[in-house]
Amino acid sequence: MATIPKTCKAAVINRIKAPITIEEVQVPQELEPGGMLVRTDVASLCGSDIHMWDGTIMLPIEPFLPIIPGHEMMGTIVDRGQVRCDAVGQPLAEGDRIVWSPATCGECFWCRITKQESLCPNRRNYNFASCRNYPYLVGGLSEYCYVYPTSGKIKIPDEVKSEWASAASCALRTVVHAFEKLGPVHDYDTVVVQGAGPVGLFATAMASKAGASRIITIGAPQVRLDIAKRWGANHLISVEKHNPIDRQDQIMTLTGGRGADIVIEASGAKTAFREGIEMVRRGGRYLVIGQTNRDEISIAPSAIVGREMMLIGSLSAETTDYYRAMEFLRNNRERFDFDAMVSTRYPLSRVNDAYEAMRNFFDIKPLILPHL
Ligand SMILES: [Zn+2]
Ligand SMILES: [Zn+2]
Repeated sequence: MATIPKTCKAAVINRIKAPITIEEVQVPQELEPGGMLVRTDVASLCGSDIHMWDGTIMLPIEPFLPIIPGHEMMGTIVDRGQVRCDAVGQPLAEGDRIVWSPATCGECFWCRITKQESLCPNRRNYNFASCRNYPYLVGGLSEYCYVYPTSGKIKIPDEVKSEWASAASCALRTVVHAFEKLGPVHDYDTVVVQGAGPVGLFATAMASKAGASRIITIGAPQVRLDIAKRWGANHLISVEKHNPIDRQDQIMTLTGGRGADIVIEASGAKTAFREGIEMVRRGGRYLVIGQTNRDEISIAPSAIVGREMMLIGSLSAETTDYYRAMEFLRNNRERFDFDAMVSTRYPLSRVNDAYEAMRNFFDIKPLILPHL
């Protein structure tokens, strides 16, 4: 077993909206039964990381400060403790690469009866624990990370790059989970994807793979729309060039005045939900993934009733979705150029620059390499 240091470098948020600092944080020397320690080779930023930093995230983070941010990461096992295999039964050894889910309680109504892991109210999400208390390292932006005993662990296939696996551990697995909730995509379906960030791009790729006849991706900047095109979008609508009325008109023109069979909200923009409802055809489906902030908007619920619209919310993901996400990457790596999304690498010392690049839409998915 590799030597485990007493402390390691980690990015720490001490106050909301304050610059993130790099600090020495304790490394847990003891593991709970089922817990593991991994070396974080790659972490990546997610839109929620920005909302966590500026305090607008759905679940308030303030009570837990100081915290290590980053919930999208992969790691190489340094100490596997008592764990012998991953959630699909593949043997795990020190040196293997894994991704892992938030930790469920295994005892509540959602864990036991409805089998909806992502809705477990006792779920221990990464980041939501002070880095001053054991097990200290429960965030991705750190040289090492602790894996909770009840986190679903999934071995990363050899063909899947660590950078892709990191991006999959929040963005892609969220889309995989959402598509499970959406149900079948038919070859006569027109799918509108609102948003061309990581979630919107993965949703575009999955809609393409699922066989949608036509995919319209709405977003900006152009560099992201170009990737959407390479990943299966047939039509692109730039939100920089077209206002909401224009966008609505284009969807109606493209669908013969009917509206889209499926609309997927993947932008997280405040006005996107109201706009998306109007794009769904009568009897269509609206899959809402991106709305994880605490914004309030006004809508006319009759727009949902009048369309007999099926409105589907999707939150986070379950262990099975991590497995499916890894398989999606492995099986579609020739079809989609996943490297296009993960282009810029930052050392831990430049974490604030990475946040800035994410906030300004400069990088699609900044990578942080804690050991760079
Ligand atoms: Zn539970
Ligand atoms: Zn995320």
